[in-house]
Amino acid sequence: MLKESLVKIIGSKAMRDFVTSSKMAKPIVDRFVAGVDIESGIRVVHTLNKSGKRATLDYLGEGVSDEASTKIPVGVYLELLEAINEAGLDANISLKLTQLGLAINNEGHVINQDLAKRNLRKIVERASKFDNFVRIDMECSDYTKATLAVFYDTAISHSNVGVVVQAYLKKSGEYVDNLIKHGVRVRLCKGAYLEPPSVAFTKKTEVDQNYKYLMERLLNMGNFPAIATHDVKLIDYAKNFAENRKIKPNRFEFQMLYGIKRSLQDGLVSDGYGVRVYVPFGGEWYPYLTRRLAERPENLLFFLTNLFKK
Ligand SMILES: Cc1cc2nc3c(=O)[nH]c(=O)nc-3n(C[C@H](O)[C@H](O)[C@H](O)COP(=O)(O)OP(=O)(O)OC[C@H]3O[C@@H](n4cnc5c(N)ncnc54)[C@H](O)[C@@H]3O)c2cc1C
Repeated sequence: MLKESLVKIIGSKAMRDFVTSSKMAKPIVDRFVAGVDIESGIRVVHTLNKSGKRATLDYLGEGVSDEASTKIPVGVYLELLEAINEAGLDANISLKLTQLGLAINNEGHVINQDLAKRNLRKIVERASKFDNFVRIDMECSDYTKATLAVFYDTAISHSNVGVVVQAYLKKSGEYVDNLIKHGVRVRLCKGAYLEPPSVAFTKKTEVDQNYKYLMERLLNMGNFPAIATHDVKLIDYAKNFAENRKIKPNRFEFQMLYGIKRSLQDGLVSDGYGVRVYVPFGGEWYPYLTRRLAERPENLLFFLTNLFKK
């Protein structure tokens, strides 16, 4: 309850305006976000690659409200793919379909698959030119069905695109089985949005149990699954499961977020596992930051008390 109230407070427009115009937030933003421009993201990836980690770069932004505004993220992603290629980095990209227009009102419908498909195709084709890969992040459950539909539509003609499954969703088993059947590269995460009990498990034990179930299926039958979590128990579970089934470390990878559990990332790399770090950059960091704060009540309280103390 306390967490939900705090999340509501930081999610409010008044709070967003206050925080984004205040310098006080900078240290905590810097922990989770590489910077505002492509160069900052590229710089962080250079450092990660030097320490044996791969990366996925995300240009922050979501829920754009008109077609013209989708041109900016599309342009940034096209430029980013060029920059990754030019710098010879081990990095791919992650994006959100609402940033490409999925949530723009289309003749009274709030889902605009056509625009998202057109924009995604441009990016996936450019990535293909550089032999690179595009991951579609999964947003709140209002968009799950449409995100999967846009994904499948693109995946018919392009193999360099993958998607995300959130273990907290009750339907995730169905999604994973279908994605496995189509040989899709899946990133498995717990899920970061506040969802109602009608669609999502709400207890941590249930989410973790489902995560294990989905992880086993993906490790056994999936195509280079990404185990995206900072949960040490789940990471150990994955390592043991893979070892017992003789699934070699080069058949999957671990993924973690920039700024979280760096020593765990380093430990996995030195044990011979593949680790990819999700590196967000861009000026639209507020919604991303609120999700990172909400994941840990300590983060949230630390953030709010520091903001008001100063
Ligand atoms: C690479 C990657 C991509 C993701 N993509 C998506 C996506 O497309 N859609 C989506 O809904 N979610 C996405 N997520 C977020 C994910 O769903 C979870 O919200 C997030 O990873 C926290 O869950 P956890 O698995 O780390 O487990 P938790 O049980 O939440 O955390 C385990 C431990 O990790 C540490 N930790 C976790 N989060 C934080 C934090 N914010 N700050 C400090 N420490 C922390 C804590 O020590 C905690 O005890 C992604 C996560 C990763 C790693």
